[in-house]
Amino acid sequence: MDLFEYQGKQLFARYDIPISPGAAAYTVDEAVAAADGIGYPVVVKAQVHVGGRGKAGGVKLAADVTECRTHASNILGMDIKGHRVGLVWIEQASDIAREYYASFTLDRSAKLHLGMLSAQGGVEIEDVATTNPDAIARIQVDPVDGLTATQCEEWVSAAGLDPEARAGTLDILQKLWRCYEAADADLMEINPLILTTDGVVRALDAKVTLDANSVFRHPDYEQYEETQPRDSREQEAFGKGLQYVGLEGSVGVIANGAGLAMSTVDVVNEVGGKAANFLDIGGGANADVMAGALEVINHDPDVQAIFINIFGGITKGEEVANGIVQALERVAIDSPIVIRLDGTNAEEGRAILQPHLSDRLRLEPTMLDAARAVVALAKAK
Ligand code: GDP
Ligand code: MN
Repeated sequence: MDLFEYQGKQLFARYDIPISPGAAAYTVDEAVAAADGIGYPVVVKAQVHVGGRGKAGGVKLAADVTECRTHASNILGMDIKGHRVGLVWIEQASDIAREYYASFTLDRSAKLHLGMLSAQGGVEIEDVATTNPDAIARIQVDPVDGLTATQCEEWVSAAGLDPEARAGTLDILQKLWRCYEAADADLMEINPLILTTDGVVRALDAKVTLDANSVFRHPDYEQYEETQPRDSREQEAFGKGLQYVGLEGSVGVIANGAGLAMSTVDVVNEVGGKAANFLDIGGGANADVMAGALEVINHDPDVQAIFINIFGGITKGEEVANGIVQALERVAIDSPIVIRLDGTNAEEGRAILQPHLSDRLRLEPTMLDAARAVVALAKAK
């Protein structure tokens, strides 16, 4: 779950991490009103779930109201790497002496957290990472012990920051760690972390990814779920509470369980097709859920054939089969459907489907047979 910069900064502020005063604006007039309130110069910043906004022209300094109006109208509506800007953050401009980089993220292979700090931050940090990796001081943080004060001090020393930035950076890193841990974050990145001309260290940018599985611990994360970037298919699926990810292919996929849904996408690929989506309908494959899933897939204009792949576990085969039959009575589907039904009470389930089978609704004995059939249908159409 990715946050906009301004949402990340507001989260930082709750942990006392210094940020610049600012306000969000959806229109040019709101942007000007915000800037008038903050005082010039301001920075007009595109709020999109993608980095590299500065290089794309999505971050602009405005010395006065005229420039603010110009920049806000140029940036609002701008396309940055496929993300349309619908919102700008207006922030009091900072006088930057130095730009550093700081982050915490998950090192999954080490099963530890990874902290990175560099004196060479800013928009070229990717180049620094490839051409001069030693310029990035790294630490591993044990999730049980947390970041100790000594460890943090050594880390800051190793990064070779300007002496006047060390105390402020040490303070921010300790707060950032507490924020990262308490928020159940997968990533918190400050680039640039700046030293101002009057010697203050401050977070000028915020890139935050939160663990979507932790929402139950953080009721306020609903606000972030609502602003996740989604295409129209994903938006519809989100509205129906389905676990859906849009892909580029022509075979619509419905499966029960995330693992089976991923395998289904793989097997479609394996036999020369391409999945149009990942869709996990979970355990309760009843008529409502199945109808909702079929509607979302049916609205995808790229779908040419649909693969329903169900392995009955706790959910019995006949319940799934009844769900499919009832869903098909409610939703008129444009594409042919191939079903593979296995697991608990699969025989009973197949018997229920039998009288409904046709060229448009086929039942195949195995996952591989079904994948071959559905890919052939998708290609024939
Ligand atoms: P990103 O390109 O998406 O990472 O956006 P950032 O928020 O990091 O901004 C990109 C660059 O714009 C920064 O590295 C700064 O050099 C510059 N910038 C952003 N805010 C200010 C500011 O308040 N004052 C000045 N002088 N430059 C800024
Ligand atoms: Mn940045």
